[in-house]
Parts: sequence; structure tokens; C-alpha cells
Amino acid sequence: MCGMQQVDIAIVGGGPAGAMCALMLARGGARVSLVHWGGYAPDGIELVSSRARRLIEQYCPDFFQTVSSGVEVRETTAQWGTPKPVTSSAMFNPWSSGVAVERPLFDHALRELARTENVSITADTKVSRIDRANDQWRLWMRGGDTASASLEADFVILATGRAAAQFLNRIPVVESSQIALMALLRPCPGDKPRHTLYVEGMDNGWWYALPARGGSYFAGFCVDRSELKKRNASLKEFFIHELRRTQLLAPLLSSDSGNLRISGRMTGIHPFSRPAGNGWIAVGDAAYMQDPLSGMGIEFAFETARLGARVLLGGMKEGATPHALAELAAYEASVRERVSGHDKAAAFQYGRLQR
Ligand SMILES: Cc1cc2nc3c(=O)[nH]c(=O)nc-3n(C[C@H](O)[C@H](O)[C@H](O)COP(=O)(O)OP(=O)(O)OC[C@H]3O[C@@H](n4cnc5c(N)ncnc54)[C@H](O)[C@@H]3O)c2cc1C
Repeated sequence: MCGMQQVDIAIVGGGPAGAMCALMLARGGARVSLVHWGGYAPDGIELVSSRARRLIEQYCPDFFQTVSSGVEVRETTAQWGTPKPVTSSAMFNPWSSGVAVERPLFDHALRELARTENVSITADTKVSRIDRANDQWRLWMRGGDTASASLEADFVILATGRAAAQFLNRIPVVESSQIALMALLRPCPGDKPRHTLYVEGMDNGWWYALPARGGSYFAGFCVDRSELKKRNASLKEFFIHELRRTQLLAPLLSSDSGNLRISGRMTGIHPFSRPAGNGWIAVGDAAYMQDPLSGMGIEFAFETARLGARVLLGGMKEGATPHALAELAAYEASVRERVSGHDKAAAFQYGRLQR
């Protein structure tokens, strides 16, 4: 072991949930250390909903001008079992424009923002084990400059996304049956940059496409893995074949489609399980993972980060140890309420799309 640090709160994982929670806690006066390893970090382009955008801008008003960039998404066009597409500026972005961001850049910008608030960030380092003895956590870390080191903390926040299953033996590993196949579609000649999110349901899955810089589009096809087994072609051929069957997205495919690079990401809903226990909470996807169609994963990550930070700071102000159980029960209740709110909103969106 070559280093030992002692902090109030250790955060494992520096995606939107971990970085935002670190930022809020540090602003509230807590000593926070965040350990981040990018091995499971989402790639590609995602929508920061208008609400999530507002949450960031409360802390850093010019975030999307100076800290991170993205493409504003001003309207949504969807087609789902209806002869005509539905176009709305309020479907996924009811308050104002959402922003389509490159996740690695966006996540990095959020961590840098947390660093400016004196969050100690250990990057490129994986937390491999977490132990608890005498009301203290010890995190074992590997990677980067810290060949092997440990960190002691009063409280642990799991912000590891779906990788949370490996810790505390509490979340069952869920093998998702759904996968998202994704690719960046280069602009067709003469295409003007657009600000539209496309969503289209098909008989075997659903498609989305988000605007990217320079007039490109980032398209994803969420499909059951059994469909992939049935295919009689390469992944790329399958992707192109399925994309050509759509009405809304097919025109986004340019003639140089031979250069497409397809990546895959497991998706599907992660069941809700306990987001808090003695001396720890889980935030973001580590607490609950919803359907990507909802477009609210980052928003939920920020909301749970905010709820968690509020509860912990409240507990610390009152002189209680941050793992006061009453506070954790309050966190669990709030997350449950948010999950049911998100589920209702998602069901509503599906209803709109299916009509
Ligand atoms: C196909 C698809 C499309 C999606 N599109 C959208 C969208 O458009 N808009 C939207 O809002 N949401 C979208 N989502 C959901 C969104 O990606 C997640 O809800 C969001 O990333 C959750 O953030 P998080 O911080 O909880 O977890 P993550 O973003 O997964 O971050 C966790 C981080 O912790 C790191 N980590 C994991 N284990 C360790 C460890 N042991 N030690 C150190 N670090 C560790 C990981 O590498 C990762 O960087 C989509 C999801 C899918 C599957």
C-alpha cells in the first residue's frame, strides 16, 4: 500500500451522478474524495434533458457555453404505429431545449467542475473492494499512479452506474435482454445542421437519433438480443438494413454508410432496489436504471445526487454522523417517490408515442 487518505465522504464513480453529488457536497462544506475509473463509462451522444440542464446551470450558469459543448435539441419527431409522425417541442424537453452531448467530454467537464470546488479526484483508478469496520469504510483502489492504495471514509456513495452490483452484495446482477446498437451517421451532402431528436418505434425494437456537431446524427437501435441471433448478416449490415426500414431515420443515412462504426451497449430497466443502508447510499443508475427511451437517465442521476447531498449535509449540520439512519430512510423515501414519478412520466411518453 502506498497511500492512505481520510475523508468524510468517498464517492465511487465519476459519471453524472457521482460528479454532481461530489460538487454539491463540497459546496456544502464536506470533505469529499471521488474515485473514477472510465472502464464502464458510457460512450456516444446522449440527451441532457431540459430539466437536467437547468440543474447544472444552477451551479454553473455558463456550463454549456464555456465548460462543455453540445447541440441544442429543440424539437422531437416521433413515429410509433401511426401513419403520421408527431412533432412536438415539449415531448422530451418540456421546459426549454435539451442539449445533446458527447458523454466522455460531458462527464469530464462535470468532474472538472467538481474539482474547482475542492473535490479530490483520483482518476483512472478502479475501486476493487469496499470493507467496513468500526463505523469506517476502507476502499481498495487499483490503477493509474496509485498502483495499490486505500482510502478511509465515514460514508460511501456508490455512483458506479450498473456496475454497482459488485459492491456490498446487495444488487442482483441483472442480465439485460436488450441491447442498443449505436453509430454516428455522417451528414448527407448539403444537409443543414438540425436540432431534432427523432424517435421511431418498429415491430422489432425502437430507434432514436440525436443531432451531433457538424450536421452528423448519432443513431441508436434498441433491440432484443434474440433479434441479433436471428440475423443472417454482420452487425453493420443488420444495422443498415434495419435503419433503411424506418421512415424518419432512413434519410439520415448517407451514401458512405460503409464506414459506419457500430458500438453496442446493454440497456433495459434495472429493477429498483434499496438505495441506502448503514453508512452508504447509491445515486443515479446504481440506485435505479430506467429505460433509455425516457431520456431521463442523466436527470435522475442529478436528482438523486441532489437528494443525497441534501440529506447528508442536513445530517452533518445537525451534528449527527452522516450515516444517521433517519436521514437515510428519508433519502430512500425520496428516491422511491422520484422513481414512481419517472415511471409515470415514461408511461405517459409511451402512451403519446403509441397513440
Ligand atoms: C443506449 C442508452 C442510451 C441512453 N441515452 C440517454 C439519453 O439520451 N439521456 C439520458 O438522460 N440518459 C440516457 N441513458 C441513461 C444514462 O446513460 C444513465 O442514466 C446515466 O449515465 C447514469 O449516470 P450515472 O452517473 O449513474 O452512471 P454512469 O454514467 O454509468 O457512470 C458511472 C461511472 O462510474 C465508473 N465506475 C464503475 N465502477 C467503478 C469502480 N469500481 N471504480 C471507479 N469507477 C467506477 C464507470 O466507469 C462510469 O464512468 C441512456 C442509456 C442507454 C443504455
